[in-house]
Amino acid sequence: MQERKGLGVYNVVIIGAGTAGLVVAAGTAGLGGRVALVERNKMGGDCLNYGCVPSKALIASARAINSIRHASKWGLDEDEPRFEFETVFESMRSQRAKIAPNDSIERFESLGVDVFLGEARFVSPHEIAVGDQTLRAKNFVIAAGTRARIPPIEGILDVPFFTNETIFDELHKKPKSMIVLGGGPIGCELGQAMGRLGVNTTIIQVHGQILPKEDPEVGDWMATLLAAEGVRVLCSSRAVRLSMRDGKVQLDLVHHPRGEHETMQIVADTLLVSAGRVPNVEKLKLDAAGVKFNPRGIEVNAYLQTAQPHIYAAGDIAGPYQFTHTADAQARVVVRNILMPFQMLRQKMDYSVVPWCTYTDPEIAHVGLNETETKQQDISYDLISVRIDELDRAVVEREELGFVKVLTAKGTDRILGVTMVAANAGDLLHEFVLAMKYRIGLSQLAATIHAYPTFAELGRKVGDRYSKKRLTPFLKNAFTWLYRRSRGITFPRVEPAPDAFSGKGD
Ligand SMILES: Cc1cc2nc3c(=O)[nH]c(=O)nc-3n(C[C@H](O)[C@H](O)[C@H](O)COP(=O)(O)OP(=O)(O)OC[C@H]3O[C@@H](n4cnc5c(N)ncnc54)[C@H](O)[C@@H]3O)c2cc1C
Repeated sequence: MQERKGLGVYNVVIIGAGTAGLVVAAGTAGLGGRVALVERNKMGGDCLNYGCVPSKALIASARAINSIRHASKWGLDEDEPRFEFETVFESMRSQRAKIAPNDSIERFESLGVDVFLGEARFVSPHEIAVGDQTLRAKNFVIAAGTRARIPPIEGILDVPFFTNETIFDELHKKPKSMIVLGGGPIGCELGQAMGRLGVNTTIIQVHGQILPKEDPEVGDWMATLLAAEGVRVLCSSRAVRLSMRDGKVQLDLVHHPRGEHETMQIVADTLLVSAGRVPNVEKLKLDAAGVKFNPRGIEVNAYLQTAQPHIYAAGDIAGPYQFTHTADAQARVVVRNILMPFQMLRQKMDYSVVPWCTYTDPEIAHVGLNETETKQQDISYDLISVRIDELDRAVVEREELGFVKVLTAKGTDRILGVTMVAANAGDLLHEFVLAMKYRIGLSQLAATIHAYPTFAELGRKVGDRYSKKRLTPFLKNAFTWLYRRSRGITFPRVEPAPDAFSGKGD
């Protein structure tokens, strides 16, 4: 007999219906488990409502606007694109609405999940409360995510500002200007999009480079491109005070490049705060459950168990990465581990190959180590670089900007890491992601037939570049000798000129 919603003991109660919570719910219910899912706000969490989906939809419109602005590249007349700011936002919201049913209460109830709307808090290690309702379970999954960090800048609470939770639904009129506080992926993606939508945008970044998880060369490359598009980028800039001036937001900052100190003021119509994330731990009453946490989030072991082995955490709140795809991957491990009766059958989370992408235009996609990390870890490596304009497809598509850097273990073709700056780099990266995961070397990429003309030929080109690097003068001499021999010429070998192997090509 089926137990009534909320009564009895669940196999799993999940707190948070973002990516991590939804994947655990669907996976466990699909395997026949009894599941309750609690959400205090919108089904779908950040990714659907305030993150990946609306940002990428807006970025797509901004890219189209930019193409019209630079139409002469395709032999068309250049024109200033005509559009209504609010209509662009409506279009973004309508695309989001198309995806929303996947995460809806109706869909999850149809999968057999009991959905509860309200804020969950632990009352003991085996019970949570949602309003007046108490839910009991054998296992719990905390998937409560993160929210925008509001940095402790003097006056910040006295000025209006947007975060990712408000900008997509509450910015109704085109501002003339915007300060974007934070030059990480969210700040750069939205800063570029706003600039393309005609908003005079300034990105303020406390670090010496934007996108600080990438190599400095990559951050600087993107900063130069943004500046060329008219987005002002101020790195090494610490915001010190926010105030209102004539109805506008004034930011006082200290700009400190190379040890110099200059105080500056920036005045803009609006402010977007994209200065990092904080975990949603406060309302969960984790002490009542004996779950340990720190300022970065909930502490978990390799199996994603918290200090209480029957309580798991997944997604942004557990870290160490804060991506939809890592939330999804963790959730799959949690589903399996909850099902397994013994610890020895449980699976450890594997972070050895984690790709990510920043959806600026061009995109910046990354997997494995970058050069900075390789040097910090004292790992010897070889570097192979290919420019995107070396691809015929990129040239004919007028998508010539960018490059790929591939690091291989010194003297071998084993990939240590890849950074790719290109149109659709997030998609192109996956040949390398697969290669890293299954230890496919660059020689095998070179030996794989890639369709011409595609951007995907990048994989083969990198492989070819590696093979050419291996063609040492000694090997080339040996090949030359073989060729001569096959022509019946056996006179002694002539020493090549010193630069005989530095051809024009690869
Ligand atoms: C602007 C932006 C763009 C992004 N773009 C990308 C991208 O392109 N690619 C990518 O991989 N990642 C992107 N991300 C990150 C991605 O959105 C997150 O990694 C992902 O949403 C994490 O999922 P989650 O399930 O851990 O948490 P969330 O999606 O945050 O879900 C947590 C849910 O828990 C609920 N909750 C919290 N506390 C309680 C409680 N006490 N009781 C009940 N419910 C509770 C919240 O309301 C929320 O719905 C982006 C993020 C932002 C902000």
